[in-house]
Amino acid sequence: MNILTPNSPTAELQALDAAHHMHPFTHGAALREKGARIITRAEGVWLNDSDGNRILDAMAGLWCVNVGYGREELAEAAARQMRELPFYNTFFQTSHVPAINLAARLAELAPDDLNHVFFANSGSEANDTNLRMVRAYWHVKGQPERTHIIARWNGYHGSGVGSGSMGGMKSIHSQGGLPIPGIHHIDQPHWYLEGGQMTPEEFGLARAQQLEEKILEIGADKVAAFIAEPLQGAGGVIVPPATYWPEIQRIVDKYGILLIADEVITGFGRTGQWFGCQTMDVRPDIMTVAKGLSSGYQPIGASIVSDEVARVIDGVEFNHGYTYSGHPVACAVALENLRLLDEEGIVDRARTHVAPYLKQRFESLADHPLVGEVKIIGLMGSLALTPDKPSRASFAAEAGTAGLITRERCFANNLIMRHVYDRMIISPPLVISHEEIDTLVERARLSLDEAH
Ligand code: PLP
Repeated sequence: MNILTPNSPTAELQALDAAHHMHPFTHGAALREKGARIITRAEGVWLNDSDGNRILDAMAGLWCVNVGYGREELAEAAARQMRELPFYNTFFQTSHVPAINLAARLAELAPDDLNHVFFANSGSEANDTNLRMVRAYWHVKGQPERTHIIARWNGYHGSGVGSGSMGGMKSIHSQGGLPIPGIHHIDQPHWYLEGGQMTPEEFGLARAQQLEEKILEIGADKVAAFIAEPLQGAGGVIVPPATYWPEIQRIVDKYGILLIADEVITGFGRTGQWFGCQTMDVRPDIMTVAKGLSSGYQPIGASIVSDEVARVIDGVEFNHGYTYSGHPVACAVALENLRLLDEEGIVDRARTHVAPYLKQRFESLADHPLVGEVKIIGLMGSLALTPDKPSRASFAAEAGTAGLITRERCFANNLIMRHVYDRMIISPPLVISHEEIDTLVERARLSLDEAH
């Protein structure tokens, strides 16, 4: 077989891709028709494709390349670890240096008493771990009937059977017979789309109170946990009203229900602090992390759990794990990534220098006729597209169409933004410069103009 290279002709790369590669979350036949864009190299916030275009990646890959592309230190960390110990498992009474160091570092960074780390290879897997762990927790505590999990419609927690069930994406549920039994959903705190005549504060409270109603409907002694993203990412960068999280915290505390904060996107500086629960002032019992943990340079995820959860789980043999839990190379790269985020002041600079400028520039798009709302926290932002600003209408029957068109325009203008229905999203590398932010906003405005 002829092995292709980044310098091979685009048509050849696309043809082989189309012939054998099944893409995630993609209409395969439609993609085959037009051919995938082949990304060949990257540096900082810039991608190169096989046609020689330079593309500004305003999505940091998939919300993950927090330190930016091309960091030699991470390549070195991987190579060093591969030479020293490319693999060993952590199952059978053994451990290794990278897993030890990374677990300890995460315990140091995570708030409060989140001091214990169970490794996985992705956010989906870590959330499956959480599902199993909270059920095991109550089982060991002598309350085995506490198995029910409450999550939110339009939340995203991954696309495995467990994680996809906890997620509230109906498009995922409808294809896979999900959710599995014992998973329940309440409505999301999406004021712009669903708030009607309520003020954001009233609406935030009302949506949080759905949690209490659901707990009482199921029976408080049957609920194991509530899982939510501090700020919904894949659902459209939805910032909850200020009343939402305090009320959720009150309710989980009142009923003694475990709170899982899914920080897969919001972790490691994305919201301007190390973790989204610090930005939203929430106290979880378990945090899911992945993506920014290694800045995407290696696949790795983890559940970071409280002293109490760990104490209970440690009392039994927890029959769960992945061959690559705590993979040494992924751990070594993640540890080095955390060093860069910290020692180079990338997280601090994101909060003090990058986020304020990005907010000011991104919010300037609010005057565009297609833009009904601009939301941004830290380096996560979204534009709601609308045919009618005052009524906050969406593009109704063709919901998502405007987003799709705009994304296609961005793509053509060498800017990567995602769309979720009619929301256009950004989540750039934390190292983006002011000048690059200007380029991002200029290209976004041009794309909106072309889509209008
Ligand atoms: N949780 C959240 C909040 C996510 O945004 C994602 C992915 O986007 C996941 C979990 C799943 O992570 P992965 O794709 O690494 O399995």
